Amino acid sequence: MYVTDVVVIGAGPAGLFSIFECGMQKLSCHVIDALDHVGGQCRALYPEKPIYDIPAYPAILAGDLVDKLYEQAAPFKPTYHLNQRVTHILQDDEKYWIVRTSKDVQIKTKAIIIAAGAGAFGPNRPPLENIEDYEGTSIFYFVKSREDFRDKSILIAGGGDSAVDWAISLSELAKSVSIVHRRPKFKAAPESLERLTKLSQEGEINLIVPYQLSGLKGENGFLTHVIIDSLDGTKQEIEADILLPFFGLSMNLGPISEWGLGLEHNHITVDPLTAKTNREGIFAIGDVATYAHKQKLILTGFAEAAQAAQAIRAYTCPDEILHFEYSTTKGVGIHTK
Ligand code: FAD
Repeated sequence: MYVTDVVVIGAGPAGLFSIFECGMQKLSCHVIDALDHVGGQCRALYPEKPIYDIPAYPAILAGDLVDKLYEQAAPFKPTYHLNQRVTHILQDDEKYWIVRTSKDVQIKTKAIIIAAGAGAFGPNRPPLENIEDYEGTSIFYFVKSREDFRDKSILIAGGGDSAVDWAISLSELAKSVSIVHRRPKFKAAPESLERLTKLSQEGEINLIVPYQLSGLKGENGFLTHVIIDSLDGTKQEIEADILLPFFGLSMNLGPISEWGLGLEHNHITVDPLTAKTNREGIFAIGDVATYAHKQKLILTGFAEAAQAAQAIRAYTCPDEILHFEYSTTKGVGIHTK
């Protein structure tokens, strides 16, 4: 069993910055995320989109922002446990929390910061036979890097922003891009729709509507064709070595909602001054935390991370007189255990 000062559940921007803030308070962290990479929504949903409201960055790509947060946390030597969900928390006799994950990792901790966003992510998977054989080789629910798809024959399924934006973006480097959607109309920003129509007229993107996915063909985990059905049942086989189904994400708090925490519409209610929940030693920050007039923004999560770290220091060292110090005074890297 690992032992630490703080377990951070969720390695999105709020969770990553909380490692830095805890480090500044001389608190060690173990960090758990259901995804196989850090960065939460920024990395999983929009890594190559510029964000314009991060202070001091007129524009920064979401992927670059989380890379910098990871780097900023590094001097405090956090331990990451990725690709696993937190399933249980239990309080032991000494008032430590024991946190357990889906991979049977157990961590004994004085405090927990829940930075779980909207909950553990999972893509909505189309109900296709043997789909799992192709996942990770030919079927992807997220685009981590456009370069992975250079010179590929790509079929995108879906009719929302992700389907439209990625079709436009990938058409610049793919061998071919088609979009299959079960309705004739797409739902996306007007500029994106204009661009899609233009690229389709120029033959750069093939629009296949109204059709839906019905089967997969390939060998050894690599796709060769995707079978699609029209609404009247007419079948077509589309040559494709990559399928990108963009049917949205299901996000749910899962076991977190069963831990006796105060909840409001699937969010954890906290004291905004300290990020404290109704359970001793448990704090919540970022999108998952709520209070009056809460704004779900990355910069809000950053401030909450600082409040939580300060409150955890006071909670874990009740006899200590806390002196506020700027980072310019303290520096970084000298406080790690
Ligand atoms: P998240 O980023 O949601 O990360 C939570 C992490 O917790 C996830 O990685 C999840 O896997 C993990 N997790 C959850 N439950 C568990 C569990 N039980 N066990 C293990 N891991 C778990 N915000 C802005 O401020 N400016 C913008 O311009 C902006 N643009 C956006 C554009 C898009 C397309 C989207 C989708 C969002 C945008 N946002 C923007 C919102 C911003 O991304 C979120 O506010 C931010 O990601 C919240 O950070 P977080 O760390 O609280 O949670």
